Amino acid sequence: MAENGLMMQYFEWNMPNDGQLWNQLKEDASHLKEMGVSAVWLPPAYKAASQDDVGYAPYDLYDLGEFDQKGTIRTKYGTKEEYLAAIDALHEQGMYVYADVVLNHKGGADETERFEAYEVNPENRQEKISESYEIEGWTKFTFPGRKDMYSDFKWHWYHFTGTDLDNKTEKKAIFMIKGLNKGWSDNENVDDEFGNYDYLMYADVDYANPEVVEEIKKWSQWYVKEAKLDGFRLDAIKHIDRNFLEDLVNEIRENNHPDFFVVGEYWKNNIQSLKDYLEQTDYTFDLFDVGLHFNFYFASEQGIDYDLRNLFDDAMISKKSVHAVTFVDNHDSQPGQALESYVDEWFKPLAYAFILLRVEGFPCLFYGDYYGISGEKPIEGMQDIIDPLLYLRRNHAYGEQKNYFDHGSCVGWTRLGDEEHPYGLAAIMSNGEEGFKEMYVGEQYAGQNFADFTGNRENKVEIDENGCGWFNVNAGSVSVWVLDDITEQQAFQEKE
Ligand code: CA
Repeated sequence: MAENGLMMQYFEWNMPNDGQLWNQLKEDASHLKEMGVSAVWLPPAYKAASQDDVGYAPYDLYDLGEFDQKGTIRTKYGTKEEYLAAIDALHEQGMYVYADVVLNHKGGADETERFEAYEVNPENRQEKISESYEIEGWTKFTFPGRKDMYSDFKWHWYHFTGTDLDNKTEKKAIFMIKGLNKGWSDNENVDDEFGNYDYLMYADVDYANPEVVEEIKKWSQWYVKEAKLDGFRLDAIKHIDRNFLEDLVNEIRENNHPDFFVVGEYWKNNIQSLKDYLEQTDYTFDLFDVGLHFNFYFASEQGIDYDLRNLFDDAMISKKSVHAVTFVDNHDSQPGQALESYVDEWFKPLAYAFILLRVEGFPCLFYGDYYGISGEKPIEGMQDIIDPLLYLRRNHAYGEQKNYFDHGSCVGWTRLGDEEHPYGLAAIMSNGEEGFKEMYVGEQYAGQNFADFTGNRENKVEIDENGCGWFNVNAGSVSVWVLDDITEQQAFQEKE
Protein backbone atom coordinates (compact mmCIF):
# COMPACT_ATOMS: atom_id res chain seq x y z
CA MET A 1 0.00 0.00 0.00
CA ALA A 2 1.18 3.47 -0.78
CA GLU A 3 1.93 5.78 2.12
CA ASN A 4 -1.40 6.93 3.53
CA GLY A 5 -3.03 4.97 0.74
CA LEU A 6 -6.66 5.56 -0.11
CA MET A 7 -9.01 3.33 -2.01
CA MET A 8 -11.99 4.73 -3.85
CA GLN A 9 -15.07 2.71 -4.70
CA TYR A 10 -15.80 4.27 -8.07
CA PHE A 11 -19.52 3.55 -8.42
CA GLU A 12 -22.82 3.60 -6.58
CA TRP A 13 -25.90 1.47 -7.16
CA ASN A 14 -28.12 3.96 -9.01
CA MET A 15 -25.71 5.13 -11.70
CA PRO A 16 -27.38 5.56 -15.08
CA ASN A 17 -27.15 2.72 -17.59
CA ASP A 18 -25.46 4.91 -20.19
CA GLY A 19 -22.23 3.04 -20.77
CA GLN A 20 -20.23 6.08 -19.75
CA LEU A 21 -18.58 5.15 -16.44
CA TRP A 22 -15.30 3.91 -17.95
CA ASN A 23 -15.02 7.09 -20.03
CA GLN A 24 -15.81 9.25 -17.02
CA LEU A 25 -13.21 7.42 -14.95
CA LYS A 26 -10.57 7.92 -17.62
CA GLU A 27 -11.25 11.66 -17.62
CA ASP A 28 -11.22 11.73 -13.83
CA ALA A 29 -7.92 9.86 -13.38
CA SER A 30 -5.64 12.86 -12.80
CA HIS A 31 -8.16 14.41 -10.40
CA LEU A 32 -8.32 11.16 -8.41
CA LYS A 33 -4.55 11.21 -8.17
CA GLU A 34 -4.66 14.77 -6.82
CA MET A 35 -7.23 13.70 -4.23
CA GLY A 36 -4.74 11.18 -2.91
CA VAL A 37 -6.51 8.10 -4.25
CA SER A 38 -3.93 5.32 -4.54
CA ALA A 39 -6.23 2.51 -5.68
CA VAL A 40 -9.58 2.40 -7.46
CA TRP A 41 -12.17 -0.33 -6.94
CA LEU A 42 -14.17 -0.67 -10.13
CA PRO A 43 -17.62 -2.27 -10.41
CA PRO A 44 -18.01 -5.77 -11.93
CA ALA A 45 -16.88 -5.33 -15.51
CA TYR A 46 -18.14 -8.50 -17.17
CA LYS A 47 -21.39 -9.18 -18.95
CA ALA A 48 -24.29 -9.53 -16.54
CA ALA A 49 -27.74 -11.06 -16.97
CA SER A 50 -29.00 -7.74 -18.37
CA GLN A 51 -27.40 -4.51 -19.54
CA ASP A 52 -28.74 -2.43 -16.64
CA ASP A 53 -27.50 -4.87 -14.01
CA VAL A 54 -25.05 -3.30 -11.54
CA GLY A 55 -22.86 -6.33 -12.14
CA TYR A 56 -23.72 -8.72 -9.35
CA ALA A 57 -25.66 -11.09 -11.60
CA PRO A 58 -22.65 -12.17 -13.69
CA TYR A 59 -23.39 -14.06 -16.89
CA ASP A 60 -20.07 -14.39 -18.72
CA LEU A 61 -16.85 -13.59 -16.85
CA TYR A 62 -14.88 -13.53 -20.11
CA ASP A 63 -17.05 -10.89 -21.74
CA LEU A 64 -15.77 -7.51 -20.57
CA GLY A 65 -18.07 -5.65 -22.96
CA GLU A 66 -16.69 -7.27 -26.11
CA PHE A 67 -19.32 -9.68 -27.45
CA ASP A 68 -22.93 -9.32 -28.48
CA GLN A 69 -24.54 -11.23 -25.63
CA LYS A 70 -27.62 -10.59 -23.50
CA GLY A 71 -28.70 -8.10 -26.17
CA THR A 72 -25.71 -5.83 -25.79
CA ILE A 73 -22.01 -5.52 -26.47
CA ARG A 74 -21.26 -2.95 -23.78
CA THR A 75 -22.07 -3.43 -20.11
CA LYS A 76 -23.78 -0.85 -17.92
CA TYR A 77 -20.42 0.90 -17.73
CA GLY A 78 -19.10 0.74 -21.30
CA THR A 79 -17.13 -1.46 -23.67
CA LYS A 80 -14.04 -3.55 -23.05
CA GLU A 81 -11.96 -1.08 -25.02
CA GLU A 82 -13.15 1.78 -22.81
CA TYR A 83 -12.58 -0.32 -19.68
CA LEU A 84 -8.97 -1.06 -20.64
CA ALA A 85 -8.38 2.59 -21.56
CA ALA A 86 -9.65 3.72 -18.15
CA ILE A 87 -7.34 1.22 -16.45
CA ASP A 88 -4.40 2.49 -18.51
CA ALA A 89 -5.24 6.05 -17.49
CA LEU A 90 -5.27 5.07 -13.80
CA HIS A 91 -1.95 3.25 -14.18
CA GLU A 92 -0.41 6.23 -15.92
CA GLN A 93 -1.26 8.24 -12.80
CA GLY A 94 0.41 5.63 -10.63
CA MET A 95 -2.79 4.23 -9.11
CA TYR A 96 -3.67 0.60 -8.55
CA VAL A 97 -6.75 -0.99 -10.06
CA TYR A 98 -8.91 -3.47 -8.16
CA ALA A 99 -11.58 -5.48 -9.97
CA ASP A 100 -14.84 -6.52 -8.35
CA VAL A 101 -14.99 -10.30 -8.64
CA VAL A 102 -18.31 -12.09 -8.23
CA LEU A 103 -17.66 -15.82 -7.95
CA ASN A 104 -20.55 -17.03 -5.82
CA HIS A 105 -23.18 -17.37 -8.51
CA LYS A 106 -24.10 -16.95 -12.15
CA GLY A 107 -27.22 -15.41 -13.66
CA GLY A 108 -28.86 -15.21 -17.07
CA ALA A 109 -28.29 -18.83 -18.23
CA ASP A 110 -28.73 -19.50 -21.95
CA GLU A 111 -30.85 -22.62 -21.56
CA THR A 112 -32.60 -24.73 -18.98
CA GLU A 113 -31.65 -28.28 -18.03
CA ARG A 114 -33.44 -31.06 -16.21
CA PHE A 115 -31.91 -32.57 -13.09
CA GLU A 116 -32.82 -33.93 -9.68
CA ALA A 117 -33.00 -31.60 -6.72
CA TYR A 118 -34.33 -31.33 -3.18
CA GLU A 119 -36.18 -28.41 -1.73
CA VAL A 120 -34.52 -27.26 1.48
CA ASN A 121 -35.78 -25.22 4.41
CA PRO A 122 -34.76 -21.60 3.73
CA GLU A 123 -34.17 -21.14 7.46
CA ASN A 124 -32.05 -24.28 7.71
CA ARG A 125 -30.50 -25.24 4.39
CA GLN A 126 -29.27 -28.55 5.77
CA GLU A 127 -32.84 -29.68 6.17
CA LYS A 128 -34.43 -31.25 3.10
CA ILE A 129 -38.15 -30.60 3.02
CA SER A 130 -38.95 -32.75 -0.01
CA GLU A 131 -37.88 -35.95 -1.67
CA SER A 132 -35.66 -35.35 -4.68
CA TYR A 133 -37.52 -34.77 -7.91
CA GLU A 134 -36.74 -33.58 -11.42
CA ILE A 135 -36.77 -29.84 -11.90
CA GLU A 136 -35.99 -27.64 -14.89
CA GLY A 137 -33.39 -25.07 -13.89
CA TRP A 138 -31.55 -22.21 -15.58
CA THR A 139 -28.07 -23.74 -15.41
CA LYS A 140 -26.78 -24.14 -18.97
CA PHE A 141 -24.35 -21.43 -20.03
CA THR A 142 -22.96 -21.78 -23.56
CA PHE A 143 -22.08 -18.15 -24.37
CA PRO A 144 -23.10 -18.33 -28.05
CA GLY A 145 -21.98 -14.77 -28.75
CA ARG A 146 -18.42 -15.40 -27.60
CA LYS A 147 -17.93 -18.55 -29.70
CA ASP A 148 -15.33 -20.15 -27.39
CA MET A 149 -12.98 -17.18 -27.48
CA TYR A 150 -10.62 -17.30 -24.44
CA SER A 151 -12.31 -20.46 -23.11
CA ASP A 152 -14.54 -23.22 -24.44
CA PHE A 153 -15.91 -24.10 -21.01
CA LYS A 154 -19.67 -24.63 -20.88
CA TRP A 155 -21.55 -24.61 -17.60
CA HIS A 156 -24.08 -27.31 -16.72
CA TRP A 157 -26.26 -28.18 -13.75
CA TYR A 158 -23.53 -30.32 -12.19
CA HIS A 159 -21.28 -27.25 -11.87
CA PHE A 160 -23.74 -25.71 -9.42
CA THR A 161 -24.91 -26.58 -5.92
CA GLY A 162 -28.35 -25.03 -6.10
CA THR A 163 -30.83 -22.77 -7.80
CA ASP A 164 -34.03 -20.94 -6.95
CA LEU A 165 -36.55 -21.68 -9.69
CA ASP A 166 -38.17 -24.73 -11.26
CA ASN A 167 -38.98 -23.43 -14.71
CA LYS A 168 -41.36 -26.33 -15.34
CA THR A 169 -43.74 -25.38 -12.53
CA GLU A 170 -42.48 -21.82 -11.92
CA LYS A 171 -42.04 -22.83 -8.32
CA LYS A 172 -39.63 -20.69 -6.33
CA ALA A 173 -37.66 -22.38 -3.56
CA ILE A 174 -34.09 -23.09 -2.57
CA PHE A 175 -33.30 -26.21 -4.57
CA MET A 176 -30.23 -28.22 -3.58
CA ILE A 177 -29.01 -30.12 -6.62
CA LYS A 178 -28.69 -33.88 -6.16
CA GLY A 179 -25.72 -35.85 -7.44
CA LEU A 180 -22.46 -37.59 -6.60
CA ASN A 181 -20.28 -35.36 -4.37
CA LYS A 182 -22.91 -32.69 -4.47
CA GLY A 183 -24.57 -30.60 -1.79
CA TRP A 184 -23.57 -27.34 -0.16
CA SER A 185 -19.99 -26.46 0.72
CA ASP A 186 -18.83 -27.99 4.00
CA ASN A 187 -20.28 -26.12 6.96
CA GLU A 188 -16.90 -24.96 8.25
CA ASN A 189 -16.03 -23.38 4.88
CA VAL A 190 -19.00 -21.01 4.56
CA ASP A 191 -20.91 -18.80 6.95
CA ASP A 192 -23.10 -20.68 9.42
CA GLU A 193 -26.24 -18.54 9.20
CA PHE A 194 -29.32 -20.54 8.06
CA GLY A 195 -27.51 -23.75 8.91
CA ASN A 196 -25.18 -23.28 5.92
CA TYR A 197 -25.03 -20.04 3.93
CA ASP A 198 -23.46 -21.40 0.73
CA TYR A 199 -26.60 -20.50 -1.22
CA LEU A 200 -27.27 -16.81 -1.78
CA MET A 201 -28.96 -16.33 -5.15
CA TYR A 202 -29.18 -17.42 -8.81
CA ALA A 203 -27.24 -20.55 -9.80
CA ASP A 204 -24.78 -21.18 -6.97
CA VAL A 205 -21.31 -22.19 -8.18
CA ASP A 206 -20.04 -25.53 -6.82
CA TYR A 207 -16.42 -25.22 -5.70
CA ALA A 208 -16.31 -28.92 -4.81
CA ASN A 209 -16.34 -29.59 -8.57
CA PRO A 210 -12.74 -29.87 -9.92
CA GLU A 211 -13.75 -28.60 -13.37
CA VAL A 212 -15.15 -25.44 -11.81
CA VAL A 213 -12.05 -24.90 -9.69
CA GLU A 214 -9.81 -25.28 -12.72
CA GLU A 215 -11.91 -23.00 -14.90
CA ILE A 216 -12.21 -20.19 -12.33
CA LYS A 217 -8.49 -20.30 -11.59
CA LYS A 218 -7.76 -20.19 -15.31
CA TRP A 219 -10.17 -17.28 -15.73
CA SER A 220 -8.57 -15.37 -12.87
CA GLN A 221 -5.13 -15.63 -14.43
CA TRP A 222 -6.58 -14.54 -17.76
CA TYR A 223 -8.44 -11.59 -16.24
CA VAL A 224 -5.48 -10.32 -14.20
CA LYS A 225 -3.33 -10.34 -17.33
CA GLU A 226 -5.93 -9.07 -19.79
CA ALA A 227 -6.93 -6.07 -17.65
CA LYS A 228 -3.54 -5.57 -15.94
CA LEU A 229 -5.18 -5.78 -12.55
CA ASP A 230 -3.45 -5.05 -9.26
CA GLY A 231 -6.06 -6.57 -6.99
CA PHE A 232 -9.49 -8.04 -6.41
CA ARG A 233 -12.44 -7.04 -4.31
CA LEU A 234 -14.07 -10.42 -3.66
CA ASP A 235 -17.85 -10.29 -3.48
CA ALA A 236 -20.00 -12.28 -1.05
CA ILE A 237 -17.21 -14.41 0.38
CA LYS A 238 -19.24 -15.72 3.28
CA HIS A 239 -21.12 -17.81 0.70
CA ILE A 240 -18.03 -19.24 -1.04
CA ASP A 241 -15.76 -22.09 0.05
CA ARG A 242 -12.97 -20.30 1.91
CA ASN A 243 -10.32 -22.90 1.06
CA PHE A 244 -10.95 -22.30 -2.61
CA LEU A 245 -10.56 -18.53 -2.25
CA GLU A 246 -7.34 -18.90 -0.27
CA ASP A 247 -5.92 -21.19 -2.99
CA LEU A 248 -7.07 -18.87 -5.75
CA VAL A 249 -5.36 -15.82 -4.26
CA ASN A 250 -2.17 -17.74 -3.48
CA GLU A 251 -1.99 -18.99 -7.07
CA ILE A 252 -2.32 -15.48 -8.47
CA ARG A 253 0.47 -14.25 -6.20
CA GLU A 254 2.71 -17.19 -7.07
CA ASN A 255 2.17 -16.47 -10.74
CA ASN A 256 4.24 -13.26 -10.97
CA HIS A 257 1.96 -11.08 -8.85
CA PRO A 258 3.48 -11.32 -5.36
CA ASP A 259 1.88 -8.06 -4.20
CA PHE A 260 -1.58 -8.74 -5.60
CA PHE A 261 -4.01 -7.03 -3.21
CA VAL A 262 -7.26 -8.69 -2.20
CA VAL A 263 -10.06 -7.49 0.05
CA GLY A 264 -13.09 -9.63 0.78
CA GLU A 265 -16.65 -8.64 1.50
CA TYR A 266 -17.76 -10.69 4.53
CA TRP A 267 -20.96 -8.85 5.30
CA LYS A 268 -21.66 -9.66 8.92
CA ASN A 269 -21.69 -7.38 11.94
CA ASN A 270 -19.89 -9.99 14.01
CA ILE A 271 -16.22 -9.52 14.75
CA GLN A 272 -15.75 -13.14 15.75
CA SER A 273 -16.86 -14.38 12.31
CA LEU A 274 -14.42 -11.99 10.61
CA LYS A 275 -11.56 -12.94 12.93
CA ASP A 276 -12.24 -16.62 12.39
CA TYR A 277 -12.27 -16.07 8.66
CA LEU A 278 -8.90 -14.31 8.67
CA GLU A 279 -7.41 -17.06 10.78
CA GLN A 280 -8.84 -19.90 8.74
CA THR A 281 -7.56 -18.36 5.51
CA ASP A 282 -4.10 -17.69 7.04
CA TYR A 283 -4.52 -13.91 6.68
CA THR A 284 -4.25 -14.33 2.93
CA PHE A 285 -6.37 -11.26 2.28
CA ASP A 286 -7.98 -8.28 3.99
CA LEU A 287 -11.61 -7.75 4.89
CA PHE A 288 -13.90 -4.74 4.89
CA ASP A 289 -14.49 -3.50 8.43
CA VAL A 290 -18.22 -4.16 8.52
CA GLY A 291 -18.32 -3.71 12.31
CA LEU A 292 -16.96 -0.17 12.06
CA HIS A 293 -19.53 0.68 9.37
CA PHE A 294 -22.35 -0.44 11.67
CA ASN A 295 -20.85 1.57 14.55
CA PHE A 296 -20.96 4.65 12.31
CA TYR A 297 -24.52 3.82 11.33
CA PHE A 298 -25.73 3.40 14.91
CA ALA A 299 -23.82 6.51 16.03
CA SER A 300 -25.52 8.51 13.28
CA GLU A 301 -28.95 7.17 14.25
CA GLN A 302 -28.60 7.58 18.00
CA GLY A 303 -27.06 11.06 18.14
CA ILE A 304 -26.00 12.13 21.61
CA ASP A 305 -27.19 8.83 23.06
CA TYR A 306 -24.31 7.03 21.35
CA ASP A 307 -21.09 6.77 23.32
CA LEU A 308 -18.37 7.69 20.80
CA ARG A 309 -15.86 5.59 22.73
CA ASN A 310 -17.77 2.57 21.43
CA LEU A 311 -16.77 3.25 17.82
CA PHE A 312 -13.98 0.71 18.29
CA ASP A 313 -16.20 -2.01 19.72
CA ASP A 314 -16.41 -5.18 17.64
CA ALA A 315 -14.64 -3.42 14.79
CA MET A 316 -11.67 -4.85 12.94
CA ILE A 317 -9.65 -1.68 13.52
CA SER A 318 -9.37 -2.54 17.20
CA LYS A 319 -8.42 -6.20 16.67
CA LYS A 320 -6.90 -6.78 13.25
CA SER A 321 -6.34 -3.28 11.96
CA VAL A 322 -3.61 -4.33 9.50
CA HIS A 323 -6.22 -6.37 7.62
CA ALA A 324 -9.04 -3.85 7.87
CA VAL A 325 -10.36 -1.90 4.90
CA THR A 326 -12.42 0.82 6.54
CA PHE A 327 -15.41 2.48 4.89
CA VAL A 328 -18.37 4.66 5.76
CA ASP A 329 -20.91 3.41 3.20
CA ASN A 330 -21.03 1.46 -0.04
CA HIS A 331 -23.34 0.46 -2.91
CA ASP A 332 -25.15 -2.09 -0.72
CA SER A 333 -25.66 0.11 2.35
CA GLN A 334 -26.97 3.11 0.38
CA PRO A 335 -30.71 3.89 0.65
CA GLY A 336 -33.01 1.37 -1.02
CA GLN A 337 -30.44 -1.42 -1.24
CA ALA A 338 -30.41 -4.90 0.21
CA LEU A 339 -28.12 -4.11 3.12
CA GLU A 340 -29.38 -0.58 3.73
CA SER A 341 -27.66 0.92 6.75
CA TYR A 342 -26.84 4.38 5.49
CA VAL A 343 -24.84 6.62 7.77
CA ASP A 344 -26.86 9.79 8.32
CA GLU A 345 -25.53 12.91 6.62
CA TRP A 346 -24.67 14.83 9.80
CA PHE A 347 -22.32 12.09 10.93
CA LYS A 348 -20.51 11.54 7.62
CA PRO A 349 -17.88 14.25 8.18
CA LEU A 350 -17.12 12.69 11.57
CA ALA A 351 -16.93 9.19 10.12
CA TYR A 352 -14.67 10.29 7.25
CA ALA A 353 -12.37 12.17 9.64
CA PHE A 354 -12.21 8.96 11.67
CA ILE A 355 -11.19 6.68 8.78
CA LEU A 356 -9.00 9.21 6.94
CA LEU A 357 -7.03 10.80 9.76
CA ARG A 358 -6.38 7.92 12.14
CA VAL A 359 -3.61 5.37 11.79
CA GLU A 360 -5.73 2.20 11.68
CA GLY A 361 -6.99 0.57 8.51
CA PHE A 362 -6.89 1.19 4.77
CA PRO A 363 -9.74 3.63 4.10
CA CYS A 364 -12.13 3.36 1.16
CA LEU A 365 -13.96 6.46 -0.08
CA PHE A 366 -17.42 5.78 -1.52
CA TYR A 367 -18.31 7.39 -4.86
CA GLY A 368 -21.83 8.08 -3.58
CA ASP A 369 -20.52 10.08 -0.63
CA TYR A 370 -18.12 12.08 -2.76
CA TYR A 371 -20.00 12.66 -6.02
CA GLY A 372 -23.52 11.89 -4.83
CA ILE A 373 -26.15 9.24 -5.43
CA SER A 374 -28.42 9.43 -8.47
CA GLY A 375 -31.84 7.91 -9.01
CA GLU A 376 -35.34 8.86 -7.95
CA LYS A 377 -34.25 10.26 -4.61
CA PRO A 378 -30.85 11.74 -5.40
CA ILE A 379 -28.45 12.60 -2.60
CA GLU A 380 -25.91 15.33 -3.09
CA GLY A 381 -22.23 14.51 -2.82
CA MET A 382 -20.10 15.89 0.01
CA GLN A 383 -17.04 16.76 -2.02
CA ASP A 384 -16.75 20.17 -0.31
CA ILE A 385 -16.52 18.51 3.09
CA ILE A 386 -14.42 15.52 2.09
CA ASP A 387 -11.77 17.39 0.05
CA PRO A 388 -10.27 19.19 3.07
CA LEU A 389 -10.13 15.87 4.93
CA LEU A 390 -8.33 14.30 1.96
CA TYR A 391 -5.88 17.20 1.98
CA LEU A 392 -5.26 16.55 5.68
CA ARG A 393 -4.74 12.86 5.02
CA ARG A 394 -2.16 13.61 2.31
CA ASN A 395 -0.26 16.21 4.32
CA HIS A 396 -0.87 15.91 8.06
CA ALA A 397 -2.16 12.47 9.13
CA TYR A 398 1.25 10.95 9.89
CA GLY A 399 3.30 9.79 12.81
CA GLU A 400 2.43 8.91 16.37
CA GLN A 401 -1.25 9.00 17.35
CA LYS A 402 -2.45 10.15 20.75
CA ASN A 403 -5.98 9.25 21.76
CA TYR A 404 -8.38 11.33 23.82
CA PHE A 405 -11.41 9.09 23.99
CA ASP A 406 -12.29 10.21 27.48
CA HIS A 407 -15.87 11.42 27.07
CA GLY A 408 -18.93 9.72 25.55
CA SER A 409 -19.98 12.56 23.30
CA CYS A 410 -16.69 14.37 22.66
CA VAL A 411 -13.58 12.52 21.58
CA GLY A 412 -10.34 13.49 19.89
CA TRP A 413 -6.92 12.41 18.75
CA THR A 414 -3.71 14.00 17.56
CA ARG A 415 -1.10 12.96 15.05
CA LEU A 416 2.40 14.19 15.76
CA GLY A 417 3.80 14.04 12.23
CA ASP A 418 6.93 12.31 10.98
CA GLU A 419 10.19 13.38 9.37
CA GLU A 420 8.73 13.84 5.91
CA HIS A 421 5.45 15.32 7.14
CA PRO A 422 6.40 17.30 10.22
CA TYR A 423 3.04 19.06 10.63
CA GLY A 424 0.61 16.95 12.60
CA LEU A 425 -3.02 17.61 13.45
CA ALA A 426 -5.53 17.62 16.28
CA ALA A 427 -8.96 16.17 15.50
CA ILE A 428 -11.97 16.54 17.76
CA MET A 429 -15.57 15.51 17.26
CA SER A 430 -18.82 15.82 19.14
CA ASN A 431 -22.19 14.12 18.80
CA GLY A 432 -23.67 16.39 21.45
CA GLU A 433 -23.08 19.97 22.43
CA GLU A 434 -20.23 22.26 21.56
CA GLY A 435 -17.11 20.94 23.29
CA PHE A 436 -13.43 21.36 23.85
CA LYS A 437 -10.55 19.21 24.90
CA GLU A 438 -6.93 19.67 25.90
CA MET A 439 -4.68 17.68 23.57
CA TYR A 440 -0.95 17.44 22.95
CA VAL A 441 0.50 18.40 19.55
CA GLY A 442 4.17 19.08 20.42
CA GLU A 443 6.34 21.55 22.33
CA GLN A 444 7.77 22.90 19.09
CA TYR A 445 4.49 24.79 18.59
CA ALA A 446 4.60 26.58 21.98
CA GLY A 447 3.26 30.09 21.55
CA GLN A 448 1.96 29.43 18.01
CA ASN A 449 -1.63 29.29 16.83
CA PHE A 450 -3.59 26.40 15.38
CA ALA A 451 -6.61 26.91 13.13
CA ASP A 452 -9.47 24.58 12.13
CA PHE A 453 -8.75 23.41 8.58
CA THR A 454 -12.35 22.26 8.05
CA GLY A 455 -13.49 25.86 8.47
CA ASN A 456 -16.10 24.85 11.03
CA ARG A 457 -14.46 26.96 13.76
CA GLU A 458 -13.15 30.46 13.22
CA ASN A 459 -11.23 30.98 16.46
CA LYS A 460 -7.54 30.20 16.89
CA VAL A 461 -6.04 27.96 19.54
CA GLU A 462 -2.71 28.88 21.10
CA ILE A 463 -0.36 26.08 22.04
CA ASP A 464 1.09 26.30 25.54
CA GLU A 465 4.66 25.66 26.68
CA ASN A 466 3.85 21.96 27.24
CA GLY A 467 2.81 21.55 23.61
CA CYS A 468 -0.89 21.33 24.42
CA GLY A 469 -3.89 23.33 23.29
CA TRP A 470 -7.57 23.56 24.23
CA PHE A 471 -9.21 22.62 20.93
CA ASN A 472 -12.86 23.34 20.18
CA VAL A 473 -15.60 21.62 18.24
CA ASN A 474 -19.14 22.70 17.39
CA ALA A 475 -22.21 20.70 18.37
CA GLY A 476 -22.60 17.54 16.26
CA SER A 477 -19.51 18.36 14.27
CA VAL A 478 -15.81 17.74 13.69
CA SER A 479 -12.86 20.10 13.64
CA VAL A 480 -9.31 19.34 12.59
CA TRP A 481 -6.72 21.76 13.85
CA VAL A 482 -3.36 22.36 12.19
CA LEU A 483 -0.67 24.99 12.50
CA ASP A 484 -2.20 28.24 11.31
CA ASP A 485 -0.13 28.54 8.19
CA ILE A 486 -1.89 30.97 5.96
CA THR A 487 0.11 30.13 2.84
CA GLU A 488 -0.84 26.51 3.10
CA GLN A 489 -4.54 27.31 3.39
CA GLN A 490 -4.36 29.64 0.44
CA ALA A 491 -2.59 27.06 -1.66
CA PHE A 492 -5.40 24.62 -0.94
CA GLN A 493 -8.18 27.10 -1.64
CA GLU A 494 -6.62 28.24 -4.91
CA LYS A 495 -6.40 24.66 -6.11
CA GLU A 496 -10.06 24.11 -5.31
CA1 CA B 1 -22.13 -20.25 -2.68
